[in-house]
Amino acid sequence: MTDVTVEKRAFKSELQQILNLITHSLYSHKEIFLRELISNASDAIDKIRFNSLQNEHLVEGNRDWRIKLSADKAVGTLTVSDNGIGMSREDIIENLGTIARSGTRAFLDSLKQADAAVRPELIGQFGVGFYSAFMVADQVTVISRAAGEAQGVRWQSDGLGEYTVEPAEKPERGTEVILRLKAEEKEFLEPWRLRTIVKQFSDFIEHPIVMDVEKTEGETKTVAEETLNSRKALWLRSKADVTAEEHNAFYRQIANAFDDPVKVIHYAAEGMLDFKALLYIPKTKGFDLQFAEAKVGPKLYINRVQIMDHCEQLLPPYLRFVKGVVDCSDLPLNVSREVIQHSPLLEKIQKSLVKNVLAALEELKTSDYDTYVGVFGELGGILKEGLARDWDHRTQIADLLLFQSLKTEAGKFTTLAQYREAMPADQTDIYYLAGEQRSALEHSPSLEVFRHRGWDVLLLTDPIDEFVFPSLADYKGMALKAADREAPELPAEELKKTEEASGVFAPLLQALKGTLSELKDIRLSRRLKESAACLVADEGDLSPNMERLLQKMGRADAMGLGGPAQRILELNPDHPAVQALFQLHQADPGDARIGTYAHLLHDEAVLAEGSKLPDPSAFAKRINELIAKDAARS
Ligand code: ADP
Repeated sequence: MTDVTVEKRAFKSELQQILNLITHSLYSHKEIFLRELISNASDAIDKIRFNSLQNEHLVEGNRDWRIKLSADKAVGTLTVSDNGIGMSREDIIENLGTIARSGTRAFLDSLKQADAAVRPELIGQFGVGFYSAFMVADQVTVISRAAGEAQGVRWQSDGLGEYTVEPAEKPERGTEVILRLKAEEKEFLEPWRLRTIVKQFSDFIEHPIVMDVEKTEGETKTVAEETLNSRKALWLRSKADVTAEEHNAFYRQIANAFDDPVKVIHYAAEGMLDFKALLYIPKTKGFDLQFAEAKVGPKLYINRVQIMDHCEQLLPPYLRFVKGVVDCSDLPLNVSREVIQHSPLLEKIQKSLVKNVLAALEELKTSDYDTYVGVFGELGGILKEGLARDWDHRTQIADLLLFQSLKTEAGKFTTLAQYREAMPADQTDIYYLAGEQRSALEHSPSLEVFRHRGWDVLLLTDPIDEFVFPSLADYKGMALKAADREAPELPAEELKKTEEASGVFAPLLQALKGTLSELKDIRLSRRLKESAACLVADEGDLSPNMERLLQKMGRADAMGLGGPAQRILELNPDHPAVQALFQLHQADPGDARIGTYAHLLHDEAVLAEGSKLPDPSAFAKRINELIAKDAARS
């Protein structure tokens, strides 16, 4: 075997970059290296404990689970050891020599951009924690023996580009990480310092984190093992017994967060299904949610034994921002993770969690509205996905949404319930308009008729709105309609007036269709009050905003769209410009100006909907001609 020689290997290049970045950008939070090593040790113990449920022999009788910190002042090393699952030679090369994970680039980019305060969060969330050891050590040695293997392995590196691997003696299963501390980092050998860091970052780790401490009583010196963490399983305690401080500290630990949650959901379900849930709604989106690779979902325990760090099946994707723990005693402990993941019990737990999370959000909205506004600003975009994905709860989700509308002041919001409440007697449907910015939406000609009638329109500016709102066909029996597709029904006398006008204008409209042949239709408008013209999408066609979004996403082709959908041009028969055009056409249908004016009306409608003119120079030319003519007249 080649194993007998010491082998020198180079880190993958991105890893080198990560090492440089970690060592240089996190110097103000160096102590988190210990949190990362302890959390790796704890994961390793969870893994062997879980495997042992089916393969008892793997444990070799060594199940006194513990994570040990040993500081050796004489040689200047700090060792973190565990009796977890250990690593084989292949594992060690795979885990500590390469970063195969796809999130590496994303990690590097966000680390560069993030400000100093949030950098430590990134480390834990992207799974590069081990390397943070090089913030405080100039040499790291890992000695490990994997469960079920006879031979141990020794890995060593100074973090500068190369590492060595060689066989090693290791009597006990598990892993030892030995840090040769840099001269200026010797504080991490002090028991008080280690104690404080463990208390701050790793207090709720379930396995004991121990350290040998010297005690002097009178003349005699003794060495005693001290457990540094409190190991409290908060979720098993009754709700009233857990303080806000404990919740905050626990949340920070499981969410890799540095702030406090806005809402705690803590309950025990009893009866058909027994489980305990302790969930937290965070204040912000956090970095983990911004990347597709992020692992989401609460931790899953079975009777205090952690089965999964992230169990996706416990919550639907639109609640992926929720952190926490679920401990269920009804799930079978001795089956594989895959079997558990497909257990119908998880579905039942999910139902209960969804109900409670949505209720907690509703409660927050009612009891602490200002905080809710902030939280919704962060998480609302994710929550909205539920409108399209969770049919059963869509009304409840809809009730949690905050909207800007024609009638809200800037920075203030309305809800669907409030909108409905304030509707005038002659309004039967809910209207919304989606676009990029409130300021542009407010000036949309589509809204003129709504303003005129005193009807409010919801202004949707989140890109996801266009995708999810069509799924919400109604709210409590009231239809939701896009204001740029569907105009309100006119009162009878106005309807009669427009029908008459349509007859009178028919020859002009016919002529314009010849000039603007790229349009789907040209008709008189029922929605314009001030503007002369606007473009509308036909029912079933994509809205202009949706088209722009898809183009931005590079998806227009994927959706089978050759170019933009054909639009309908609507003209306002009461507008002086349209009336002048009408007169011109009546006097002489062959008048060359009709074509020019028709193009100008169309261009103006394109600009009003927030789209780009297909031919800006032609537009400029037409305007310039008009100016020249008008100026020559006076
Ligand atoms: P993460 O823990 O987020 O995956 P790390 O860089 O901290 O990222 O660790 C990389 C991998 O190395 C871990 O996923 C794990 O497989 C392995 N590893 C690290 N520390 C230990 C340990 N003490 N025991 C067993 N495996 C470990």
